[in-house]
Amino acid sequence: MSVWQPRVLDCQQPGGWALVHCRQHFLTDSNGVLFPREWLKKQDLPVVAEHGLGLFRGDAVYLLELDQLQDMPGCFWQGLRQFMLQGDDDETFRVLSYAAQISTWAADHRFCGRCGAAMQQVPGERAMRCGGCEQQHYPRLSPSMIVLVTRGDEILLARSPRFVSGVYSTLAGFVEPSESVEHCVAREVREEVGLEICNLQYLGSQGWPFPHSLMLGFHAEYASGDIVMQADEIEDARWFSVHDLPPLPASRSIARYLIDVYVARRLGQPEPVLPG
Ligand SMILES: [Zn+2]
Repeated sequence: MSVWQPRVLDCQQPGGWALVHCRQHFLTDSNGVLFPREWLKKQDLPVVAEHGLGLFRGDAVYLLELDQLQDMPGCFWQGLRQFMLQGDDDETFRVLSYAAQISTWAADHRFCGRCGAAMQQVPGERAMRCGGCEQQHYPRLSPSMIVLVTRGDEILLARSPRFVSGVYSTLAGFVEPSESVEHCVAREVREEVGLEICNLQYLGSQGWPFPHSLMLGFHAEYASGDIVMQADEIEDARWFSVHDLPPLPASRSIARYLIDVYVARRLGQPEPVLPG
């Protein structure tokens, strides 16, 4: 049985544990991010919403949503990205990733996009319903592709102006309405670096809570063309030898997994496992 099981828990029930969230940050103390829920409710916190998230190691976990980062004695706030970079507890990160996405979804659906009336949580379902026109909204996922393009012992890596200084990564982009993921991979590679690819292979997927992507990871081989970088999107793109790589993305990311798998295959080393 999985350590983390998403469930729509009834917030009227007492007990359990709670995460405290505000703008992609979680309240943390020396014991971690889970606090006794009834104790939290006695603190003077500006709670604006509560969600029953699921079962973590068999215990009920709720999310208390604040509208401001309030100080608590002995506690500090830590960003979701920092939890990812620490990379020492995959199961807890999955819970935080889920919690952050439920929070984003609920905050983005407080009012109906069709008629403007207030939305309410639907009891027993992960859904928000409009009190005016009955329109329902479910948590949104945005499918995107991420691809490592290779040419023998060389891999294509690029830099976006948004990246940490010096870091190079794989190409990625969102799937457009009506296109397949395979079509998206070929289109994005053509748009970002002007290359044609072949022998596309799907390697795995990863939920990416910044803010609600599902990354579908591929390997592709170079077919033809010279690198022509897309203005504004790509600051540098080049072929790197698997023996001489630049600073790479965080080890928990699927981008890093795609790179590590290929390098391991070329060097005859054991392949890594994709973090959940
Ligand atoms: Zn409505």
